[in-house]
Amino acid sequence: MYKKQPFLPQEHTSLLSERIAPRVREIAPSGIRAFFDLTAGNNEIISLGVGEPDFTTPEHIRAACIRALERGETMYTPNAGLPELRAEIARYLQESFGLEYHSQDEVIVTVGSSEALDLALRAFTAPGDEVIIPSPGYIAYSPIAYLNGGTLVEVEAAAEQGFKLTAEALEKAITPRSKLLMVNFPNNPTGAVMTYEDWEPIAEIVKAHNLIVLSDEIYAELTYDSRHVSIASLPGMKERTIVISGFSKAFAMTGWRVGYACGNRELLAAMLKIHQYTAMCAPVLGQIAAVESLRHGLRDKDYMKECFRQRRSLFVEGLRSIGLHCHEPQGAFYAFPSIRHTGRKSEDFALQLLREAGVAVVPGHVFGKGGEGHLRCSYAASPAKLAEALERLESFMKVKM
Ligand code: PMP
Repeated sequence: MYKKQPFLPQEHTSLLSERIAPRVREIAPSGIRAFFDLTAGNNEIISLGVGEPDFTTPEHIRAACIRALERGETMYTPNAGLPELRAEIARYLQESFGLEYHSQDEVIVTVGSSEALDLALRAFTAPGDEVIIPSPGYIAYSPIAYLNGGTLVEVEAAAEQGFKLTAEALEKAITPRSKLLMVNFPNNPTGAVMTYEDWEPIAEIVKAHNLIVLSDEIYAELTYDSRHVSIASLPGMKERTIVISGFSKAFAMTGWRVGYACGNRELLAAMLKIHQYTAMCAPVLGQIAAVESLRHGLRDKDYMKECFRQRRSLFVEGLRSIGLHCHEPQGAFYAFPSIRHTGRKSEDFALQLLREAGVAVVPGHVFGKGGEGHLRCSYAASPAKLAEALERLESFMKVKM
């Protein structure tokens, strides 16, 4: 278990800056964005940085939205989302992952999965409650948990254990203040997945300590070697797990801003109260696009997944052939090779790689202390770009390491 307060005090720049709420002052801007501002406007740089499919949203989805606009569908939707979208989400989760939810009161549609994560943290965190977050993990979890009053507890999901969360590590992190466990498998940044057997002992600990689980399953469709297993599908876990997902990744719909949360109706009703007063509803066109993607876009999703699978082989084999150890990413679209043998800090390595070889990757330390010594490379890029990035990386390693 790591130290509980990972943020450094930020500098005050004016008299007004001390008027900004302390928790907002204390968190730093996203390490990924800051890094990628360095690449802006330079076409020579190959970016394997941002976690976004390189596909545009399929044509029939865009066409469905154009028709909806022409019909004048420009109003608010019900707070919880279009009833037909909630029904499609419930059907889809049942058919794809065996999860059963009533579309009436166990599904809410949100502004991306990002809003769902924030709503859940706001709804369940009281000051001082401990929020357990595996490290390395998605860059937004610590700041949003902290902004919502939580005390952060990072547990190690180390390379040595295949970047999985283990019952031993979780057990050690539990205190009487533990309230929430945030998990994300398939994982950003490591590509790790959890099996039913991996989840079993975790679920026992969660139940024994009456925790709520926020399970971010935004990459659930993108598993390459086995079917995704949600922790919510284990006995007794549905009622204490909020499953959070969306359309950004598997359906190539990042800009539409549609996600969802599913779970126990009492917990969801608490989240819905906040959503009503803040977002009101997810964008109507995004919701119409999401209905179309679930009704007629499953083959597009499968096609994109096959592309990612091929790119994964190309890229991971390429990394290994130039001497970088890389744990097999079984899901999502990230490789997380180790640079430990170079003795370099991931930030120095990534900056030098960017400046001298024109390849942008994300230094592992931004994903928490467990990420140091690694680089996150998104392989949601064309095979030609991946091949060029590998060549540049190989020359860089030969000259500099
Ligand atoms: N969770 C994880 C693990 C992610 O990688 C991302 C996007 N990078 C999100 C949530 C947010 O996705 P969105 O809000 O677009 O649904």
